Amino acid sequence: MMKEEFGNPSSIHSFGRKVKVQVEGVRNLVAEKLKVQPAEIFFTSGATEAINTIFNGAVISLGVERIITTRIEHPAVISSAEYHEKTNNIQLEYVNIDSQGQVDLEQLKTFLTDNPKKTLVSLMHANNEIGNLLSIKKVSEVCRAHQALFFSDTVQSMGKFAIDLSGQLLDFAVSSAHKYHGPKGIGFMFVNGDLKIDPYIIGGGQERNMRAGTENVYGIVGLGKAFELSYEEMEQNRKAILELKHYLMDKLREEIPQIRFNGNTEGLHTVLNIGLPKNMHNDMILMNMDIAGIAVSGGSACSSGSLHVSHVIEALGLADTVSAVRVSFSKHTTKEELDYFVEVLKEKSCFDTIC
Ligand code: PLP
Repeated sequence: MMKEEFGNPSSIHSFGRKVKVQVEGVRNLVAEKLKVQPAEIFFTSGATEAINTIFNGAVISLGVERIITTRIEHPAVISSAEYHEKTNNIQLEYVNIDSQGQVDLEQLKTFLTDNPKKTLVSLMHANNEIGNLLSIKKVSEVCRAHQALFFSDTVQSMGKFAIDLSGQLLDFAVSSAHKYHGPKGIGFMFVNGDLKIDPYIIGGGQERNMRAGTENVYGIVGLGKAFELSYEEMEQNRKAILELKHYLMDKLREEIPQIRFNGNTEGLHTVLNIGLPKNMHNDMILMNMDIAGIAVSGGSACSSGSLHVSHVIEALGLADTVSAVRVSFSKHTTKEELDYFVEVLKEKSCFDTIC
């Protein structure tokens, strides 16, 4: 495509128009799958940009005075919320989560009932570190009953579940193509057509004045193909990956009986968070797994380069007792790889009081 279709989609000549057709084709495809209007989909450089745009739009354009979220959200959400608390004097409230990572919806109701100020509720659909799933429907009912705007970070669930955004359940949602084997650095946001927010990146009039800058055409086309394939293979992939996850859990329990899992293991099929007792030995586990050729992390990719304990593990109250190993599964994962993982984990981890 890069050789044959190189026009700029914003140009009115035939080369540009040809590319514009491709971009709009992807927008239509995404909108059709999510059961929304194409005009409600905007391409961005990924979910972080989309989240920044949504928070900025909610505060600056829609007059939000309070943000309610949790401490287990992705850093893109927590940092955006904290930024608006500091810079725009927005009230920031965190809803409690229990030791399994489940959100306290009663407390959300109380927050919304006690203070009717204009609010953005930001609760993620699937947690990227522990895999917990949130009922969008239940949270939506609470938000709608209190006229609160509702954004759900759907990065981990888009392309893995057939998310239906019709019926005004959500005001905002986001997606990142690399979560369903698409290219990195491309994503989109859904903005409820009843809402008019300002762009975060300003300049030209691309994306119907919602996101300035020449479109990442090749990224968008790649996203489209990956999104389409994710739907074609969704059920078969989900079943196969779930089987792999159960295989690993069973094998770990068999080989390492003291093993614990963090969060709700019934959640997202692509994530399993393993808890080892915290000691100097297990603090080195990620490095030792890496040396053995195994790519696992302790938290989200954005923070795994640092030695900090994951903020999610901290929010679960496990920071002082647990070393977390997050395993991600995909359609490419094999049982042989999982067997090797268990073998190395067994060898490199330590469950004794003195290691
Ligand atoms: N939200 C969640 C839940 C994520 O897992 C990620 C990325 O891993 C993001 C947001 C940020 O997405 P991006 O890397 O496309 O900016």
